[in-house]
Amino acid sequence: MQNSTDGSHCARGRRIRTVDIRQVRTRVPVLEGQTILEAALQNGVSFPHGCRSGRCGSCKSRLIDGQIEMLSHSRFALTDEEKAAGLILACRAVPKTDTAVAWLGAGDEAAAVRARMRQGTVVSIDDVTHDIRRVRIRPDGTDALAFFAGQYADIRFGPSPVRSYSMANRSGDPELEFHIRRVPGGAASGYVHTVLKPGDRIVLEAPRGSAHLREGHCGPILCIAGGSGLAPIKSIVETALAHGMRQAIHVYFGARTERDLYLVDHFEALTRRHANLAFTTVLSEAQATARRIGIVTQAVADDFPDLANFKVYVAGPPPMVDAAMETAFGRGLNAGDMHADVFFTPQGQPPSGAAG
Ligand SMILES: Cc1cc2nc3c(=O)[nH]c(=O)nc-3n(C[C@H](O)[C@H](O)[C@H](O)COP(=O)(O)OP(=O)(O)OC[C@H]3O[C@@H](n4cnc5c(N)ncnc54)[C@H](O)[C@@H]3O)c2cc1C
Repeated sequence: MQNSTDGSHCARGRRIRTVDIRQVRTRVPVLEGQTILEAALQNGVSFPHGCRSGRCGSCKSRLIDGQIEMLSHSRFALTDEEKAAGLILACRAVPKTDTAVAWLGAGDEAAAVRARMRQGTVVSIDDVTHDIRRVRIRPDGTDALAFFAGQYADIRFGPSPVRSYSMANRSGDPELEFHIRRVPGGAASGYVHTVLKPGDRIVLEAPRGSAHLREGHCGPILCIAGGSGLAPIKSIVETALAHGMRQAIHVYFGARTERDLYLVDHFEALTRRHANLAFTTVLSEAQATARRIGIVTQAVADDFPDLANFKVYVAGPPPMVDAAMETAFGRGLNAGDMHADVFFTPQGQPPSGAAG
């Protein structure tokens, strides 16, 4: 590879830049149009990230050198003040010159763990709602897959495209549990709901993601889940309880109607065993019900005037995550205390660094 005069390089006829990632003292090539995050993951760097769509802020980084173009992103994920202070979102930053960056969030121990490719077998499938299936997978080999609670796997089911799904169990279990909602017209989730059966072989790459439980945090915890976003929240809550975290843990589970709720008995049983756990369901479209009615993030806003010392974990569809961020930051949450997963893969953009 040779330097050209404008700081770009050529490989197999394509202009590329490089990005120097300071934490890992590694310079990786960036193909034309690629974001810094895509280049890092493609080259095996476990760059902290979550949604890959400019919404969660997990990949927030400092631009140390060079110029980038920032693609559209949520104003909660990166504020104008942060931009002015030289911060970027690696998932939305396309280098215009060679660059150097350092991700924020020191202490993200998950960033040091490299995702590994594993094969596995589907052990069981059951419907937990009319459109969410619980799929259990046993990875091959004798060593259980280690991950931080809240992380996800990139999975290929049969011929469908690789998609991300969050582990719902605790690290170290011999089987991985996933909750997969059927997206209308969805390639991977449609396959899971119509074709996948026990005994089928799958390929996964894990662990990924930085919206995971921070066990060093001693203040209260607030978890907000929408739909199958309950999966990583279940892993976070069960891990926190099993590891003896004694602070208040508030879980809000938002769904449309009663038939969209699942694992309610499971969480209610946990609240009976653990006095520090509270579980609230909020239905947006129900009428006569004993449950809270409304938008889950509004319920959180009503219940928590001050989130200053909290850690907030959020998982679900994009509008819910956006609303959760607006609510939480509006109530004093520190930017580094929000850990969000956005359950959305824009069409035509399969997860970077994944198999295939
Ligand atoms: C970090 C991460 C973790 C995730 N964890 C889970 C999980 O635990 N459980 C789970 O069910 N999903 C999860 N997802 C979402 C999942 O990866 C897929 O995006 C989803 O299953 C749709 O894939 P598909 O191939 O079926 O749909 P596609 O074929 O990719 O899309 C079909 C159509 O639906 C739209 N679309 C894509 N995703 C969604 C969505 N989520 N909601 C509404 N419309 C959508 C597309 O834009 C397209 O128009 C996660 C996503 C990310 C990024």
